Amino acid sequence: MLKKQSDYLITRNKNNYEVVIGLEVHAQVLSDSKLFSSSPTKFGAEPNTQVSLVDAAFPGMLPVINEFCIKQAVKTGVGLKAKINKRSIFDRKNYFYADLPQGYQISQYKDPIVGEGSVVLDLPSGEKTIGIERLHLEQDAGKSIHDIDPQNTLVDLNRSGVALMEIVSKPDLRSPDEVNAYIKKLRSIMRYLGTCDGNMQEGSLRADVNVSVRKKGEKEYGTRCEIKNVNSIKFMQMAIEYEANRQVDVIEEGGSIDQETRLFDTKKNETRSMRSKEDAHDYRYFPDPDLLPLDISDDFINDIKKNIPELPDEKKKRFIEKFNLSAYEANILVSDIETSKYFEEVIKNSDVKLSTNWITGELFALLNDKNLEISKSPISAINLSKLINLIKDGTISGKIAKSVFEIMATGNKNPVDIVNEKGLKQQSDPKELEKLINKVVNDNPDKVKEYKSGKEKLFGFFVGQAMKASGGKANPQLINDILKNKLK
Ligand code: ADP
Ligand code: MG
Repeated sequence: MLKKQSDYLITRNKNNYEVVIGLEVHAQVLSDSKLFSSSPTKFGAEPNTQVSLVDAAFPGMLPVINEFCIKQAVKTGVGLKAKINKRSIFDRKNYFYADLPQGYQISQYKDPIVGEGSVVLDLPSGEKTIGIERLHLEQDAGKSIHDIDPQNTLVDLNRSGVALMEIVSKPDLRSPDEVNAYIKKLRSIMRYLGTCDGNMQEGSLRADVNVSVRKKGEKEYGTRCEIKNVNSIKFMQMAIEYEANRQVDVIEEGGSIDQETRLFDTKKNETRSMRSKEDAHDYRYFPDPDLLPLDISDDFINDIKKNIPELPDEKKKRFIEKFNLSAYEANILVSDIETSKYFEEVIKNSDVKLSTNWITGELFALLNDKNLEISKSPISAINLSKLINLIKDGTISGKIAKSVFEIMATGNKNPVDIVNEKGLKQQSDPKELEKLINKVVNDNPDKVKEYKSGKEKLFGFFVGQAMKASGGKANPQLINDILKNKLK
């Protein structure tokens, strides 16, 4: 059971602390080949089948920059309303690790490809802007596997050299809920752009979570701890909660926080110290002599800018202005690009209000129930729009529409056919309905008497009986009107 938003709190907070969070998100660039080699990047391939001599760091191999990955990074920068740096530098970040055959990672340090930008969050309390510090490109390492062989650690180099964008936020986040909203918004933007699939189960999106606490109102930030490589939003939230409480306890007991790198143990729900924080100089950064500075032209940048699709914030604004949606409805419909496409397809031919209600109500419930993405919806946008038109023009009632919807859900049938085959058309002939109502009235003389002597609640009873007699097909509005007349 997931916790409710407000449940994530600093629980031992008698002195009114606040938590300060900054994220370093690692987003895998959506690209068929790696950052400096032409090896494929497909997820789930047999271990060590997507490894070139460059990725395995054979002596004398030279990295060659993949222009598509550069475009993807610039595109993401534009989506983050960020400054694009026309000159950036690839540095070697030196460290030893079994799954890092080069002995260094090619990354960007002082001169990243993207500078400051921002992301707007839609929170229950309103909008909040989170600053982006920078976005840089770097290569991923391989993967050490500890749980196949009891004696040895195995290494899979398929990931080695895959392009990552590291997106560093300013320390502007103040709660696990804001982190949730931030990751979702970032993912939404990158999916709109097609620059990262955001698939956290496959490791395409993970984050180092920096956490500190301070008393509310204090100007200076507290000392931060960095929780490495957390790969789900829920774990980020749990880790922050645990870590904030731990830090408050240390401070309240008169201690101080050591800046350190910690690990979140998902089984024990606690963070543990891995090592004291390494500083930049520990990595002996220096410009990679195999790679020239990366110079990109105005034309290159402008060409990308011209082709940026409408992003969630702009789409939301348009939906509110053009379709008169509430901010809440617009948020729901734009947060996922596929949902927004589906919505726009439905409303091409159908009433906006009804479409919004049916998509966010019945359709979302169905997808949720079947655990399906909207792109795999068993009911196509066209067929849903046909169903909505049947309601709108009075052919069927909203209630009948729900049962038609259920039938549609079993195989994307055309609702017009379903209504015809099953004879579900709404009865809207006043003469027919009057006959039906006469019978109900004649069959219940006692109730009529009670009603006329003031028991007005009984009106619902008559409506119910009449609807029942019609097999649920009578036009409810007409039934109401005719009954009112009859019982006057
Ligand atoms: P490093 O590589 O040393 O981790 P970065 O600049 O890459 O440094 O990332 C620092 C991250 O830590 C940023 O996301 C930043 O917002 C965050 N951060 C900095 N100071 C604090 C603080 N006092 N509390 C919480 N987060 C912080
Ligand atoms: Mg860091």
